[in-house]
Amino acid sequence: MSAEVNIAENVKRVRGVIAEAAAKTGRAPGDVTLVAASKTKPAAMIKEAIAAAVDAVGENRVQELLEKKAQGAYDGAPLHFIGHIQSNKAGRIVGTCGLIESVGSTAVMELIGKRAVSIGTVQNILIEVNIGTERQKSGVLPEMTEEILAAASQTGGINVLGLMAVPPLNDEIERTRHYFDAMFHLFIDMSAKKYDNVSMRFLSMGMSDSYAEAILAGANMVRVGSAIFGAR
Ligand SMILES: *Cc1c(COP(=O)(O)O)cnc(C)c1O
Repeated sequence: MSAEVNIAENVKRVRGVIAEAAAKTGRAPGDVTLVAASKTKPAAMIKEAIAAAVDAVGENRVQELLEKKAQGAYDGAPLHFIGHIQSNKAGRIVGTCGLIESVGSTAVMELIGKRAVSIGTVQNILIEVNIGTERQKSGVLPEMTEEILAAASQTGGINVLGLMAVPPLNDEIERTRHYFDAMFHLFIDMSAKKYDNVSMRFLSMGMSDSYAEAILAGANMVRVGSAIFGAR
């Protein structure tokens, strides 16, 4: 048990905010997938979040994920990978995660596809877009999104289910909103293209400080960490 953080209470509050934002855009609460971002948090806390019925759990680091998985941390909920993917570790999350949200290059996508084929599975992925065109950030540049989707249609072992983004860190929600809007436009544009292995079902964006705005801008998947688990 965590003495100070009431995870069930936090999930309930987050669900309330999600429901309100969804309603403002004509959607039902269940139209938005809540991913609990659990990096650095112990298995016991993750189990509490799953008991409080989050839709999925998202992890950032391969080693940490494998250790906590061995402890049964994710039993009962889909597991997403949301962190930077190093080429030499890409294979280890294939088949382990229901959804790999952070595929930011054709090379990594192909590695994942190859591994999936070799173990006889099809891996669901999202394409991470570097929407702020930040130098140090992973993800494909917005203008390269179509190119990677075209490459996906030629890649076995993967299924692209949408787009994901982490906008530039910003104190001003107005700036963040601008990036969310840009992502939604890109998502709609890409939805109009028809590629094999690609369907634009999920737009994953918004974190603890911005998930309501993300939903208002059109997100249907949000990744919430500290608002559920407390500060890291
Ligand atoms: C940590 C993390 C989150 C959640 O961040 P919070 O601010 O704690 O809600 C969401 N997405 C990614 C990719 C993360 O690494």
